[in-house]
Parts: sequence; C-alpha cells; structure tokens
Amino acid sequence: MDLSYGDEYEALRGELRQFLTRSWPLQGEEAKLGFPEQAALFRKRATEAGYLNRSIPKRYGGSEQPADVLTAQVIREEFGRAKAPGEARGIGTMMLVPTLLERGEEWQKEKWIPGSISGEITWCQGYSEPGSGSDLASLKTRGELVGDEWVINGQKIWTSGAQRADFMFCLTRTEPDAPKHAGISYLLIDMKQPGVDVRPLKQMTGGATFNEVFLNDVRAPADWIVGKRGEGWIVSRTTLKHERNSIGAATQTSVIFTALVRLAQRVEKNGAPAIRDPVVRQRLATLEGYVRAHQYSGYYQLTRDSKGESAGLIPLMNKLIGTTISQEAGKIGYDLVGEDALLAAGERTLGLMPKGNQGWVAQFMSSLGGSIAGGTANIQRNIIAERGLGLPRDAAADRSAGK
Ligand SMILES: Cc1cc2nc3c(=O)[nH]c(=O)nc-3n(C[C@H](O)[C@H](O)[C@H](O)COP(=O)(O)OP(=O)(O)OC[C@H]3O[C@@H](n4cnc5c(N)ncnc54)[C@H](O)[C@@H]3O)c2cc1C
Repeated sequence: MDLSYGDEYEALRGELRQFLTRSWPLQGEEAKLGFPEQAALFRKRATEAGYLNRSIPKRYGGSEQPADVLTAQVIREEFGRAKAPGEARGIGTMMLVPTLLERGEEWQKEKWIPGSISGEITWCQGYSEPGSGSDLASLKTRGELVGDEWVINGQKIWTSGAQRADFMFCLTRTEPDAPKHAGISYLLIDMKQPGVDVRPLKQMTGGATFNEVFLNDVRAPADWIVGKRGEGWIVSRTTLKHERNSIGAATQTSVIFTALVRLAQRVEKNGAPAIRDPVVRQRLATLEGYVRAHQYSGYYQLTRDSKGESAGLIPLMNKLIGTTISQEAGKIGYDLVGEDALLAAGERTLGLMPKGNQGWVAQFMSSLGGSIAGGTANIQRNIIAERGLGLPRDAAADRSAGK
C-alpha cells in the first residue's frame, strides 16, 4: 500500500523544507527579538511565500491560495517538524476573522484582518453573561446609539483572554422592544478605554485565563457593528460555527495523543515502561481509535468546506468527540504520572501540548472546560439527536437555548 501523498505533494514537501531551513529560526539581529515579534515576522514571510493564511485574500494580508486539503496537511507536517510558528491561533484568527470575511464590511476587513492574522491585534469574545450561557439570547448588556456612538453598559463573564485583548466582539441588546433574538447587535469594542473593567477569575488549574468584564458607559463608533442592527444573533451563529471548529480541531487531539504515548514510554508502571502494561495499552489503543476517527471526520469536514458544501452536523460532532478525547487523554495522563498528580497544575491554556508531569495535571483539569466552552456537550447532544438522528424534541428543554 502506498501511503505517500504522491509526487506533486512530495515536491511541495521539498520546497517547504528549503524555505524552512532558510527562514526558521530567525538569524542575527532578528533572533534577539522576543518570541511574539519573531513569530509575527516569520508568519508574514511564510504568508508571502503562500504557506500560511491560504484562505484569506491578499488584500487582507493573506496568501489567497486555492483550497487543497493535502497541501494544507503537508504544510502543517513540515512546519511542525521544523517547530516553526503556524498560523496565529487565537480568538481573533479562529473566530472573528472568518466572521468578518463572511459578514463584515470591506473597510472592517481591511482594518482588522491583517493585524489579527499576524498576531499583532488580539481579541476576546463577549457573549456569556451571568444567567445567559446556553440561553444566550436572554443577554442583558445594553447598547444605545447616542449621536454617532454606541454607549454600552452591562457585564460579561467567562471572557477568555480579556486581560490581554485589544478588542472585544460583543453581543449587546440594542433593540429592547424586539423579540429577544431580534434585539441583539454584534458590536466591536476597544478594550483599552475608560469604563472597561476586567477582573480575572481564578480557575482550579491555579491560572486565570478567563475574566469578568464590566462595561460602564463604554463607547464604540456607530459603524463598529458587524451586520445590521438587530441582526447580531445571525452574525453570532457564524462566529459560533468557527468557534466549534477550532475547539473540535483534530490536529489538537492528535498532538495530545502523541504526547500521551511518549509519556507512557517515559514513565514506569510495575518496574517497566508503562507502555508495556496491558491495561495502559488497551486504554491507549481504544483512545487511538477515537483519535483516528476524529481525524478522518475532520478531513471530511475540510473537504466539504473547501467545496463550499455544508458539513451539516459534523462540526458539532467533532467538537463533542474532540472534547471527549481530550478529557480521556487527560485522565490517562493523570493516572500515568502517579504521585505527581498531586502537583499544582500551573497556568496553561486549553489544548496546548502538555509538558512534563505537571502539564498532565493541567491537561486533565483544563480539558473539563472543553465540554462547556462554545456550547455545552448536553446542548450539542440534543442538537445532534434532534436534527441529525431525527429523535423527538426534548420537551423539557428551553427552545431559546442559544449556544
Ligand atoms: C474554558 C471556557 C472558556 C470560555 N470562554 C468564553 C469566552 O471567551 N466568551 C464567552 O462569552 N463565553 C465563554 N465561555 C462561557 C461558555 O460559553 C458558557 O459557559 C456556556 O455557554 C454554558 O453557559 P453557562 O456556563 O451559563 O451554563 P448553563 O447554560 O447555565 O448550563 C448549565 C448546565 O445545564 C445544561 N443545560 C442548559 N440548558 C440546557 C438545555 N436546553 N438542554 C439541555 N441541557 C441544558 C448545560 O448543558 C449545563 O450542563 C467559556 C467557558 C469555558 C468553560
């Protein structure tokens, strides 16, 4: 069986290796810059060469290349091998940029996409509020148009990365008399202004990656709105689709699984490497089955997306299975590190490759949030059951449930 990608892609691999040998790590004076600056420089060059930001038009700072699943895969593999920075991964690139591409005004795309994909502009997502999570459309933060500015008042919660973000994409109630889904607008807010009060929330990992955000008479220019007034709910669905895609990405579960196998090779169980233990092997083999299924389901989704066809409920299923895998990997890792499971988790963010035994404690703890973020697992199951399998609707559920 020939498992290579074929001559065309192996030629691309050679080209990539030459580019990466020349371009990463940076040399000379550039190597003295901090990592974020080095990464931004490298990303710009890799984009100019056509390897990164391939789905983004050139006029917004992308490389505008034809969609090709295998090319993208070879690029990922070679960048991974060279430990070179891939596309900036953050709330801005994974959620806002695709939303602006689908629904933003031309000037909004030109203003915000280039800095977001280079990593120079960072974003946070202001959706959830106390009492408005799954039932997101009940949100109460108010936006009032006063002259040529929005004046925004209210409170957001669980806002990941708000302490570092330059801007927030924020759902606000601008039409208080309209039915709840029709009264919301999608506003963009500068976080570095008076009236924005960010208070970190301490998590069980010991870190504080998300926050409460209080908005007191915060201002945004009238045209910093994506979509029309009162159509924010529709725009938010676009963002949510991309949020679930990023949480459900199979690349993350493959990386975690590879790290888990290495851990099982490194630590001992009953005086031998844990990987030789039949129970550990069984758990790893079962998990690998799910990881591979997730990977191929991800390819299927990508193929449909690249042809402009709907992937239906596959993104929801990928998010659900992705978080399940991540949690199971966390549990196995937690069991394998033995007494080190008592270590403090240390600060880390969801989905990054665990480093050292302490990293596995963090992986275990932070993986739990994956089945809540971006819409809870229960809600996903209900949607898959009702819309995918055609099961009867859950009479007890609130039909207005948003995420
Ligand atoms: C790691 C992490 C990062 C996050 N980052 C952000 C962020 O950056 N920005 C942001 O705006 N939000 C963020 N959130 C918040 C997240 O979107 C909400 O927590 C989520 O939507 C659930 O809302 P809730 O916490 O209010 O729970 P609730 O909606 O109160 O749900 C509580 C429980 O009831 C169940 N439930 C509720 N309604 C139904 C129903 N109709 N049918 C069946 N079961 C139901 C849920 O499944 C859940 O088990 C983040 C959350 C996490 C964990």
